[in-house]
Amino acid sequence: MIMTFAMGLTMNYAQHESVHHGHAHAHGERVKAKGMAAMNNSGKFAPYEFTRHEVGDNDILIEIMYSGICHSDIHHVYEDWKTEVYPLVPGHEIVGRVIQTGKNVTKFKVGDYAGVGCLVNSCRECRYCEANEEQYCETARVLTYGSSNVFHDGEMTQGGYADNIVVDEDFAISIPENADMEKVAPLLCAGITTYSPLLHVGLKSGDKVGVAGFGGLGHMAVQYAVAMGAEVTVFDITEDKRQFAFDMGVSNYVNVNTEELDEWRNTFNIIISTVPANYEVKAYVNMLAIDGNLIFVGLPANRDVPNIDIATLIFQGRRNLFGSQIGGIKETQEMLDYSVANNIYPMVEIIEPCRIEQAYKDVIDGKVHFRYVIDMSKL
Ligand code: NDP
Ligand code: ZN
Repeated sequence: MIMTFAMGLTMNYAQHESVHHGHAHAHGERVKAKGMAAMNNSGKFAPYEFTRHEVGDNDILIEIMYSGICHSDIHHVYEDWKTEVYPLVPGHEIVGRVIQTGKNVTKFKVGDYAGVGCLVNSCRECRYCEANEEQYCETARVLTYGSSNVFHDGEMTQGGYADNIVVDEDFAISIPENADMEKVAPLLCAGITTYSPLLHVGLKSGDKVGVAGFGGLGHMAVQYAVAMGAEVTVFDITEDKRQFAFDMGVSNYVNVNTEELDEWRNTFNIIISTVPANYEVKAYVNMLAIDGNLIFVGLPANRDVPNIDIATLIFQGRRNLFGSQIGGIKETQEMLDYSVANNIYPMVEIIEPCRIEQAYKDVIDGKVHFRYVIDMSKL
């Protein structure tokens, strides 16, 4: 399949006389793509052909090699958070090779590895964009899929369960040649979403860190915290991940269904919760030490929202609770480079695109160790 594509590319080079920029498509020409789309909120997927906006002067075209399945994809497909527009091609953990560059592109050349996470554009002018926190852009944040793209006539974006993606080079992440490409995709969301807030709260060696939810995000949080010298305790609802946690260097593993949390009262400097379902937040507030930070990244469905009462916040006083979304582009690049340099990767199970439906069920049932990654060359 890759060969056919490469042949098509060679033909197009000649046709469009733009060999010097590596253009496979003439200016203004929309890019043909195919992928796997959710056709409605039932979780059914089908092959889907569509087009993406043209490769503009600042854009690159990436031939996608691998796409991770994030639990957020599942929330989107099932409309757990909002009404969606179908067909919906999910996927915001994307890696591949650059096969075309616009004429102003400087960061990438044809043949380079590149990645795309949850963000594909932002206003670049507001105070948050100025501060390299594009994920909190105030006016024009464009998410990788299911998002109205104000920079392209409001068309809906489509994600990475596909053969290619067009993205502004400023929102693409460089991936070193020596990266383990089968494993690198989940860093673009699961990696940055846990790395960013742990750094933001100033995690230091010797800190006691709790990780609630030991799944795709959770097992990245564990690896970063361990690498940064923390003493890590995992909280999850199953027994079968206990050994994996110890293999990753945690000090304790707590099965919240069978073990008491009381003995951990006032213990942790940092707790990061990646739990995607309803749970008792109060138990985690009670486990924080004074001035400790409880970071929420897991975002349960609207029907399943966890709550915390003010009395708990006052009596368990001066603990910091906040939510966090992914990370900025600069920080995502730093995370990527740090992870590859320190050999920090997710544990992945590679699947073919035809297995997406089953994979979603398995993630919900807690059967994946720890991230499914779709081999997009098998489309
Ligand atoms: P996973 O399904 O891979 O991991 C979730 C883990 O939480 C599983 O191990 C699950 O257990 C465990 N779990 C479920 N209920 C509980 C509970 N009551 N107590 C402790 N652990 C529990 O999901 P992801 O890691 O991919 O995503 C997690 C959440 O983060 C999702 O809601 C997702 O939408 C959100 N997210 C947020 C982002 C942000 O920017 N803030 C970015 C990316 C994702 P089991 O093994 O049994 O299933
Ligand atoms: Zn995600």
